[in-house]
Amino acid sequence: MERFKIFIKGRVQGVGFRPTVYRYANQFNLSGFVCNTQKGVLIEIEGIEENLKNFIEKIKKYPPPRADIKEIKIIPVKIKGEKNFKIIKSKKDLKVEVEISPDIAVCKDCLKELFAKKDRRYLFPFINCTNCGPRFTIIKNVPYDRKNTTMNEFSMCEICQEEYENPLSRRFHAQPNCCFVCGPVLKLLDNKGNFICEGIEAIKKTSKLLKNGKIVAIKGIGGYHLACDAFNKKVIRILRERKKRYEKPFALMAKDLETIKKYCYVSKSEEKILESWEAPIVLLKKKGEIFPEEVAPGNNYLGFFLPYAPLHHLIFHFEKNLNVLIMTSGNFSEDPIIYQDNSALKLLKNISDFFLTHNRKIYINCDDSVLRIFNKKIYFIRRSRGFVPSPIIIPYNSKKIIFAVGADLKNTFAFTKENKVFLSQHIGDIGTFLSYQAYKNSVNLFKNILEIEPEIVICDMHPDYFSSKISKELFPDLEKISVQHHHAHIASCMADNFSKNQKVIGVAFDGTGYGIDRNIWGGEFLICDYESFERRAHLKYFPLQGGEISIKEVWRIGAVYLYMVFGDTFLNLNIDFVKKIEIRKWEIIKKMVDKKINSPLNSSMGRLFDAVSSILNIREKISYEGQSAIELEMKIKNSKLPPYKYEIKKEKNLYIIDPEMILFEIVEDLKRKLNVGEISYRFHITVVDIIKNVCKILREENKINKVALSGGVFQNIFLLEKVVEILKKEKFEVLIHKQVPPNDGGISLGQAAIGVFKS
Ligand code: ZN
Ligand code: ZN
Ligand code: FE
Repeated sequence: MERFKIFIKGRVQGVGFRPTVYRYANQFNLSGFVCNTQKGVLIEIEGIEENLKNFIEKIKKYPPPRADIKEIKIIPVKIKGEKNFKIIKSKKDLKVEVEISPDIAVCKDCLKELFAKKDRRYLFPFINCTNCGPRFTIIKNVPYDRKNTTMNEFSMCEICQEEYENPLSRRFHAQPNCCFVCGPVLKLLDNKGNFICEGIEAIKKTSKLLKNGKIVAIKGIGGYHLACDAFNKKVIRILRERKKRYEKPFALMAKDLETIKKYCYVSKSEEKILESWEAPIVLLKKKGEIFPEEVAPGNNYLGFFLPYAPLHHLIFHFEKNLNVLIMTSGNFSEDPIIYQDNSALKLLKNISDFFLTHNRKIYINCDDSVLRIFNKKIYFIRRSRGFVPSPIIIPYNSKKIIFAVGADLKNTFAFTKENKVFLSQHIGDIGTFLSYQAYKNSVNLFKNILEIEPEIVICDMHPDYFSSKISKELFPDLEKISVQHHHAHIASCMADNFSKNQKVIGVAFDGTGYGIDRNIWGGEFLICDYESFERRAHLKYFPLQGGEISIKEVWRIGAVYLYMVFGDTFLNLNIDFVKKIEIRKWEIIKKMVDKKINSPLNSSMGRLFDAVSSILNIREKISYEGQSAIELEMKIKNSKLPPYKYEIKKEKNLYIIDPEMILFEIVEDLKRKLNVGEISYRFHITVVDIIKNVCKILREENKINKVALSGGVFQNIFLLEKVVEILKKEKFEVLIHKQVPPNDGGISLGQAAIGVFKS
């Protein structure tokens, strides 16, 4: 006989850990107890050696599906001679440090019951268990107990209560546990809020409405989706018109994996992540033009995800001919997803024909995550539902509790606690009333569930950033440290890779970031660590005439670039782009550029992509961020042609990359009627070539071999692939993002990591 004390750390609470331990202990005839502690789970276990060994093996090999064991410590202790095994309550005053679980897609066991005619939860749209169901979006406070979730409004019926209390049940301490008798109820409403029907009838009717070309707002896990049939061109057009989202791709929910495979190429790793419990939207290469162009105009990829709420499965179940739905966030442009019932009815009534809603409250909004697979690994576009609030582990302990405010676009914020950085869900573009509300609500929730009060605020240097202003309002008395945007990008990539505080060559390519010289940066090579950075190379400045308006009307950028290269004579160039320019408009732009009025200097790589996209006549204006670069990438046609020429000039300690020759040669290619796809290819490999050559110069000078790639431009998968390939060939060690997006959604991680060293 022996007895062990076993400490287990990681995501081990709220995932059915104790009942699993209980079952295993019984299986191997062991006695003792299991309980939650401040740091994780504590087991005391007693029995014969062989059984103890098997028990420990089993926990290691088969922990509950959602658990994530990070550490197991085993200490032999004195035998107590107990008879049986117990789950004991944690001490009342015990301050429990728990990792709150993200929301989890409905599990296989629950799905089986959902469609088993004899099960008491047959077709129950809120079925869940310890292994699945909503978590992050229903929790109001810690500890994660029913009374601290939005399920507190429902009291369990006798049978549910029994399941909840029975350690052998899959629903032991499943906080959202409920059934037809005691749980929430679905309702179908028209867009004036009038009741139509409820329960299963409401789902059946919804499926019919969708099949018949209607738009239905469906309340899901983290907010309302706007849904319609993905094969119905007419309704998609109406949806685009009403939502004022004219071209940005819509996400598609397919009823199963087989359906997705009909329309897209799906690799093994893509299959795995599509079917994972995180259930993100995965960007997949499409097989052909099967869907109406309106789904994702000008894009070779489709964003697919699988049903993750039981309700989604039921909607497909009731209408056999409904295979793929457009499921887009219920919101306006880049606002956060709408999740409260009253605001949904108010704000979405002009978009949606019907509402499928219910009375289980969503406490916090959480958009779907979006990612792609790159080199068999996850590469985020947006990290949100399914991943939040799991922390990112960094190699240093934060002495103070840091609040990192994030960027203004694609905002996420972050809190630090020891060596963990807790990134918020996707908040969206900050600046509107709704995003402001969402930001504040989320900050409060994170403070509650992490049980922390921030001690220092890290924000962007930009004097006009909304996020910085909000943080001043939220924490007026705290010390604030500002961090340069591109330094934060690179620090984010370093932290994402668990990098130590050693200097790297940081390539930060994006659209906009405030520079220390007060110009707009975005084509930057930094030598940096977490503590400091040095700007060592950048794309040559050009005047971004009009600022914001040029970012939307990208032809203005193209025109100014050509003007810089050819002078006034560019208007005589025999290319389509020039022929379309309205001379009157151009004259005004030219005057402003010449007089340096409202023409901030800009070194952004994103803007160079805009310029090229417009000169190639691909985009004149854009209707969503990044559109011109995305469509330029989509046009790529592989070619044997070499990169374009460009110049790298040394000015003191700084290298200036002058793209003048690139534009000159692009015009030459256009004149000789070279295919736009091949020009796009040449442009892309030119950017690759620039990165390679500048990195080589910087390696030579600084004896640094590590390159970190970050910034929104690295969402361009062609570019990323080629850059990684060529840098590896040149024997560089290359860091790319793994757990947070390369775009501004990852900025808060970088700010937090820098904050650890600056506070
Ligand atoms: Zn389940
Ligand atoms: Zn019940
Ligand atoms: Fe950025």
